[in-house]
Amino acid sequence: MPSPVLVLVNSPVLPHDDSSSRPAIEIADPTSPHVSVLDLGVTRGDGIFETIMVTRGEAPAIDAHLARFASSAALLDLPEPDPAVWREAVALAMSSHPTVDVLAVKLVLTRGMEGTGVPTAWALAMPTKDFSADRETGIRVVALDRGYRHDVAQTSPWLLQGAKTLSYAINSAALREAGRRGADDVIFTSSDGFVLEAPTASVLLRHGDRILTPPTEHGILHGTTQRRAFEFFAARGYVTRALPVTRIDLERADAVWLASSIRQAVPVVELDGRPLQHDLELTRALNAHLSLRDRD
Ligand code: PLP
Repeated sequence: MPSPVLVLVNSPVLPHDDSSSRPAIEIADPTSPHVSVLDLGVTRGDGIFETIMVTRGEAPAIDAHLARFASSAALLDLPEPDPAVWREAVALAMSSHPTVDVLAVKLVLTRGMEGTGVPTAWALAMPTKDFSADRETGIRVVALDRGYRHDVAQTSPWLLQGAKTLSYAINSAALREAGRRGADDVIFTSSDGFVLEAPTASVLLRHGDRILTPPTEHGILHGTTQRRAFEFFAARGYVTRALPVTRIDLERADAVWLASSIRQAVPVVELDGRPLQHDLELTRALNAHLSLRDRD
């Protein structure tokens, strides 16, 4: 497997520090240490990230990722990421990595070393695991209560729901709980019964000619893959809507997917041990669109 490509982003935010003599971005050795043990990204998970899918030499959702990166930074009161510098960093990481089917480029911006106020930032490109079996056979999911009401983003914005922060310990714990219950993944619900998102994916469902996803006002990430999936469905004549979704909506759906940049659209074939309907042909067509294979 080709080794990762690391790009250090030395001027990640606006305004730039003009006194610095370092280049805005530079390739570095990913096997050497670059992050201090005092970095707040490490000690507090205080920072943000994005994972961008690159295939066939393109990053089809880069604009949506950079927009979400900026909105996560704003929610955390971090300085504004400079989109031009990050775009260059992604381009350099992509062009420096050998060609692979799907490359993941992870962007990280932390609050930096305690007391300095200077953020730490990098982009790391690496090949991804092959998820094609999950896309074909589907996954078993359990519903887990996230413990917050659906309106938590409005009532308690300091909980940072809707920001893509580096603190994924809760998401990882939920996935381990799914494993203990004999499942592959999780759909989080709000304490008042609304379907939210998965620990690393958005939820999409089909009811006849309608494709639904829970609204971002319910304290969830605005999925870039969900948005690309909606473009696909709208072009095929489906009605696409972000609307409140309940567990009964999942149980009665003609299809349910978890959608994310690298895994793409994975059909959910079981919820809490009960089978759900799925649609292999539609899933294949959707994934051909997401991975740009439908251009052939
Ligand atoms: N929701 C959460 C919590 C996520 O972590 C992710 C992706 O990692 C998503 C949704 C899906 O986002 P995207 O489609 O942009 O990868």
